[in-house]
Amino acid sequence: MNQTSYIGNDGWDAIAQFLDDQDVRSVLLVTGRSSYTSSGAEAGLGGVLKGKRVRRVSDFDTNPKGKDIRRILSSVLNDEPYDIIIAVGGGSVLDVAKLLKAFWSSENPVIGNLYHEEPLVPDDIPLIAIPSTAGSGSEATHFAVVYEGKKKFSIAHEAILPNFSVIIPSLLASLPRSVAAASGMDALCQAIESYWSIFSTEESQKIAAEAISLAWKSLEKAVLSRAPHALEEMAKASHLAGKAINITKTTAPHAVSYALTSFYGLQHGHAVGLLVPEFLKYNAAVTEDDCLDHRGKGWVQEQLMDISHRLGCPNIESASDALKSKLRAIGLGTSLDVIGVKSNEDIDRLVENGFNPQRVNNNPRRLTEAELRKLLRNLM
Ligand SMILES: [Zn+2]
Repeated sequence: MNQTSYIGNDGWDAIAQFLDDQDVRSVLLVTGRSSYTSSGAEAGLGGVLKGKRVRRVSDFDTNPKGKDIRRILSSVLNDEPYDIIIAVGGGSVLDVAKLLKAFWSSENPVIGNLYHEEPLVPDDIPLIAIPSTAGSGSEATHFAVVYEGKKKFSIAHEAILPNFSVIIPSLLASLPRSVAAASGMDALCQAIESYWSIFSTEESQKIAAEAISLAWKSLEKAVLSRAPHALEEMAKASHLAGKAINITKTTAPHAVSYALTSFYGLQHGHAVGLLVPEFLKYNAAVTEDDCLDHRGKGWVQEQLMDISHRLGCPNIESASDALKSKLRAIGLGTSLDVIGVKSNEDIDRLVENGFNPQRVNNNPRRLTEAELRKLLRNLM
């Protein structure tokens, strides 16, 4: 897997150079609907794309649906071929670009690959990813999320890692506050989950540790005051967290969070932000019997203490509290009942849809349905 990345407010020049080097004449441009203009991306890319044939695609939902991918593909496949895909936007926009590349030559896109075992053969068209949130880190990963109905799938292929990712911190300045808060929390949580993942390596932990420290230091300032230096550090933290989960994947909080997003419409970063403080405590109670990390219970506990120290806390309990205080400080609620999770039936529905033994098996401590129920009740 090979990716070049560039971080800086002069990233547009780096993109222009890349397009020149590849002799690009036609561009499939994947963007958000209004964020493309409001973030300043349109102004920045305008000069870069001058004189090229450009088709812009922005008519799809947040949390990409299979039907959107099929509709877009059946339309762009009738066009003259494109030299490159450029995606600029939040995690969903970047995922749509990766999904288009992934399913470009599929006979029965998404459904055929997910349900009928047709192999995934991504197109080799180059992809530039420019995140406008900090963020999902999607610009640094080789997987993408797609929904068929309410069912969430994650596809993975080395070839959908964007060839060039360009991080332009000034794009974050105009993000609505709730989006900045939720996406920033996602970056922090992805770094934390990567750090405690049973697939962590020395390399992934080094990257995740830097992401945790940067996000912890700058999240609040980036959301509340938009100080340029804080935006720069959050942009970097988000990219690093993406690089870290590209190695380890995320763990139980992410697996469980999708039910909160699908059924209650809770923003993804807010959902993981609620779950990670609870899972920090849950994982810390790991025993030899339910430890899933081959490095053992003691090792897992050490990693969780490392995380707590990076959050400036002396122990797990205070780190969990500090994470919840951070949620409040950036304007995100800390209880599930405000979004309508009030009864045992609600909890049943979340457990039914958020509990997939396979998807939680890289969490350092085994999760059972009964334990998940208990953990979710703590959040009501
Ligand atoms: Zn996430």
